[in-house]
Amino acid sequence: MQKLTDAAALKAWRDALPSSTQVALVPTMGALHVGHHSLLQHAAKDGAAVIASIFVNPLQFEREEDLTFYPRTLAADLAMLEDLGVAAVYMPSVEDLYPQGFQVSLDPGPAGATFEGAARPGHFAGMLTVVHKLFARCRPHTAWFGEKDAQQLFLVRRMAADLDMGIQVHACPTYREEDGLAYSSRNVRLGEQARQDALVLSRALQACTEAYGEGERNPRVLESQMRAQFEGSPAVFAYADVITEENFVAAEAGDDQHWRAVVAARLDGVHLLDNRYLGPA
Ligand code: AMP
Repeated sequence: MQKLTDAAALKAWRDALPSSTQVALVPTMGALHVGHHSLLQHAAKDGAAVIASIFVNPLQFEREEDLTFYPRTLAADLAMLEDLGVAAVYMPSVEDLYPQGFQVSLDPGPAGATFEGAARPGHFAGMLTVVHKLFARCRPHTAWFGEKDAQQLFLVRRMAADLDMGIQVHACPTYREEDGLAYSSRNVRLGEQARQDALVLSRALQACTEAYGEGERNPRVLESQMRAQFEGSPAVFAYADVITEENFVAAEAGDDQHWRAVVAARLDGVHLLDNRYLGPA
């Protein structure tokens, strides 16, 4: 596995690949877990050369504290990547990606200002900017993202299409722990009690999915089922909404019903999110 720490090394690696080689990019912020593992496995399908990136992107953190305490487990991450047969890992410094004078960033558009974008101003501009730079530098044919971050996935897909990037963006399902909590690098920051309390997110999604399964098609009623789960919970509620897959806006009764329930809350100061698809398979 090639360990690439700057743009020049990355370019040399990329230029040396035969033009027939399919390149699959898996961007991450490290502290790799089962969810990342599955993304990397999906990306390697069809014999693609997989490049993973590990970069905790300061542009997408609106809270200094979250950036400072973001878990970093580089040795274990490299062992996982090596084990999976990843071709290269790109782990740039902040200066490598954002050299002095850097100032231009991307505007995510209206869907970047709601939900995670409202809870974390500037988050999606920072996220899209780094993903655009990773796309430009790695020149992948495919890029792999988790459904866990549904709004991120939506915006990356929009960026790839709207800016004619010619990169296929693929989605992988969310991996959850046995009790339902979605794997997240931030989970290690939860104390024992908060770890238990965090199950309110999956309970909310479960309640919504059950109501949908029983035939409820009013998005506002589905949302109230989710919100009810937060009553009495110490979780600091952020949002629980039903959105359309097409535009990532509030679903309305009578829509074509490719919907997704999205939920987020803060526990022990840690922002957690999860979602579930609602609609025909
Ligand atoms: P992160 O390192 O948190 O930026 O995540 C890197 C990629 O892994 C993103 O595309 C995430 O959506 C994806 N990911 C994070 N958690 C999970 C999970 N529990 N299951 C599947 N994919 C995930």
